[in-house]
Amino acid sequence: MKKYLQVFSGGFSNLEVDINKLKEKLLKIMKIKKIDGIIIGWNENKELYKELKEFLRPYETKLYFWFPVFSELSYYKKFSKVLDCKEEGIENFSFQEGENFEFYCPNTIENIKNIKEIFNDKFSDYEIDGVFLDKIRYPAFSNGGKAVFSCFCPVCIEKMREKGIDVEKLKIYIEQSFEKLESNPLEIEKYKNFRYKFKNKEMNQYFQFKNDSIVEKINELIDFFKTKGLEVGLDTYASDISYLFGQDIIRLNQKADFIKPMYYRRTYAPAGIPFEIQTFKKMYNKEAGEFLLKIIGEEDLKDNIGKKQMTEEVKYLSKNLENIFLGIDFNRKENIALSNEEYIKEVFDILEEGDSKGIVLSWDLMSIPEEHLKIFLEKEDKCD
Ligand SMILES: [Zn+2]
Repeated sequence: MKKYLQVFSGGFSNLEVDINKLKEKLLKIMKIKKIDGIIIGWNENKELYKELKEFLRPYETKLYFWFPVFSELSYYKKFSKVLDCKEEGIENFSFQEGENFEFYCPNTIENIKNIKEIFNDKFSDYEIDGVFLDKIRYPAFSNGGKAVFSCFCPVCIEKMREKGIDVEKLKIYIEQSFEKLESNPLEIEKYKNFRYKFKNKEMNQYFQFKNDSIVEKINELIDFFKTKGLEVGLDTYASDISYLFGQDIIRLNQKADFIKPMYYRRTYAPAGIPFEIQTFKKMYNKEAGEFLLKIIGEEDLKDNIGKKQMTEEVKYLSKNLENIFLGIDFNRKENIALSNEEYIKEVFDILEEGDSKGIVLSWDLMSIPEEHLKIFLEKEDKCD
């Protein structure tokens, strides 16, 4: 099983990691375990990554720069943000300094141009082995309100029409879904191989459109980074819900070097599975959340994916896709990330049983409790 560590170095402007403390922590770990890669970002600080790269070289550990794509970059340039189905902007919110969860339209060519330019100007001379692309999606349930139903900017509307989508019908259908009191307001008809099918024609086309858009734009960006000789890893939602936010993990897997689906089952912030299910319940009703879990295959229906369900999913991922390294919420943060030792142990049981090819200790090494690291370091590993 490959092993990666993720470190939050701070937002673009605020350095939040002490290089000496980081090296000290890494030394302790790398004395015992071979670490395949460090994912760190997104503070702008060439010297930090240079020093880290030098430190990692004798261990043959790769360095990936954590780079948010459809969010956060307005620190550098002006972006066209996604619009909801009333063609209005969505609300932003923030959980930690340097992160704002705004979202840019993936179909606006200027946005893609900006992303490439920012990388060229600010980061292309960093001594790194690859980039790790984050926020490669549309807003999720956790963005609140009706944000998940975006983007209805003029560019997207035109593109949807070209694909034969009746946009007016779609808007009405979305609005009406909020008046429904039933357990399946989105009329999900089928869920298979992490993809959803909807009974309503426009809704089905709309979700396909979102997934097509993300795959198309991310593939373009992967090519951009690869011509620079960089590897590309992707951060996605847990594969059982990622399709709902535009991340068709099966198609994204074809070009990326690796994918880290965020199986965050103790996180109460965006991408945390219980948090997303809870916000979906708030959007509609309790039964709607339970229906979603049930169609995924979860029997317990407690705002989360249990051990059995996750094991099945990991088995599928290991068998059918390449280089899927499970992202696990190892760190502890007050009111946000609530993992404990029991949870960490259970995760290793799941990964072993599911024959997982890799793990990413997420999402901030500096706030991973010692007890959690101890479990990781003492774990016997056939590949060591
Ligand atoms: Zn748009």
